[in-house]
Amino acid sequence: MQPLSAGVVGTGYVGLATGACLAYVGHQVICLDKDQHRVASLEEGRVPFYEPGLAELIARSAGRLRFAGTEKLTEVVGEADLLFVAVGTPQGQDGSADLSEVAYAARGIGRALGGSMPREHPLVVVNKSTVPVGGIYYVSQLVSEGKNEAGSEGAEFRVASNPEFLREGSAVHDSLFPDRVVVGADSREALDVLRALYSPIVEQSFPTEWDPRPKVAVPFVPTDLASAEMIKYAANAFLATKISFINEVANLCELVGADVSEVAYGIGLDDRIGSRSLSAGLGWGGSCFPKDVAALRATARELGHETPLLDAAVAVNDRQRAQVIHKLHQDLHVLEGKRVALLGLSFKPNTDDLRGAPSLTLATSLTSLGATVLGYDPVAGKAAARLAPDIRVVFDPYEALSGTHAAVVVTEWEEVRGLDPKKAASLMREPKLIVDGRNALDAYASRDAGLLYRGFGRGNVGG
Ligand code: NAD
Repeated sequence: MQPLSAGVVGTGYVGLATGACLAYVGHQVICLDKDQHRVASLEEGRVPFYEPGLAELIARSAGRLRFAGTEKLTEVVGEADLLFVAVGTPQGQDGSADLSEVAYAARGIGRALGGSMPREHPLVVVNKSTVPVGGIYYVSQLVSEGKNEAGSEGAEFRVASNPEFLREGSAVHDSLFPDRVVVGADSREALDVLRALYSPIVEQSFPTEWDPRPKVAVPFVPTDLASAEMIKYAANAFLATKISFINEVANLCELVGADVSEVAYGIGLDDRIGSRSLSAGLGWGGSCFPKDVAALRATARELGHETPLLDAAVAVNDRQRAQVIHKLHQDLHVLEGKRVALLGLSFKPNTDDLRGAPSLTLATSLTSLGATVLGYDPVAGKAAARLAPDIRVVFDPYEALSGTHAAVVVTEWEEVRGLDPKKAASLMREPKLIVDGRNALDAYASRDAGLLYRGFGRGNVGG
């Protein structure tokens, strides 16, 4: 393998995992961020967010991985073969993707290019941020504008789109052992650079003790720019719809007395369906699904096209959230004056990310109904204490349960799954209601311990 020199703009979950993995497999990588505190903590070996295995991967890549502020951009565009853009694309007011961070980064790359010496080969600017179809042309235009602003023709560039599919909580694994690598490119040159960059991952030829499974080549999917961008949105929209589908089935299970966990297992064995993303509960959230589904619907709206399936996926998801309140009402009758614990606050286990976390909206609804909300999370507690004034955050799950009338399982952390139901029952106040928003607890053991268990779509064990 010929090691390449790569830069990454943005050291969030995606940029940092990408940079660390590329360095780990043998490339020279420099990760840049505009946030100087973030850069300083990375230089000291501290990862500024919770992502299992990432600090270790960074440590193992020492010598090939560097960190710097964006003031180093001119230097980087002068020496790198390619430069990734991995900055945030949050949801804008109207649901569409807010591309301001991408725009700012692209213009900055252009200015740096304008100020750099002519290169032997064009710089490949690779967009990894999730952007609507056509976003890469916007990037390309802004890089050109930045070059013009710098008042110099500067070095040439090409563009590519390389959407990211990693999941927070397993970002290291997903980056080293992805299901596929998708690359949309505007030219043979850009495609060849990305093919070379990813070859150790595609061929699984890098040395690792990371994963004991037999190495299987990873599909490399070269495609056009628009299709690459669409693949990302279609993947997330499909997964969100799949979860909404099983939630629809869960609601029917409650009515007919079936257990959705059994049903999901039974249908998931069909290869055409597959067993993943079939967990019923309070629905999808997080930093990607809600904003990506919203952005896809916004694109369709802009084009005068209707998306009834996606609209339904969102409606079902909203209804699942409302179901939590409904289930609390059913057994507590009024929420005014009641104490309710939220078990798990991050949007899913193994991350401290609270973006789009159901805990936040649930806490707001509960406090508006007069309940006192306590919250526990093994990792995201401190961040929640800063971000969510509606939640009284405690750092022990049993302290959260103490004196509460009800608890909602929001995030299925191991620490939450492993709670001792007898101890929980001894600490809680009547009616000792557990609303299991992830169907994560043992319904029968909970019942036997004296808890009033309510899952989602679990028929006879509490719908
Ligand atoms: P993030 O918010 O965690 O990180 C973004 C980083 O970019 C921050 O550190 C910020 O300081 C930095 N940044 C912003 N503008 C900059 C600039 N001009 N120059 C240098 N640094 C700058 O974002 P993320 O979760 O890593 O997501 C990045 C992109 O990847 C988004 O488009 C997202 O939709 C997509 N994505 C995210 C995930 C995920 O699980 N988080 C998965 C797949 C795709």
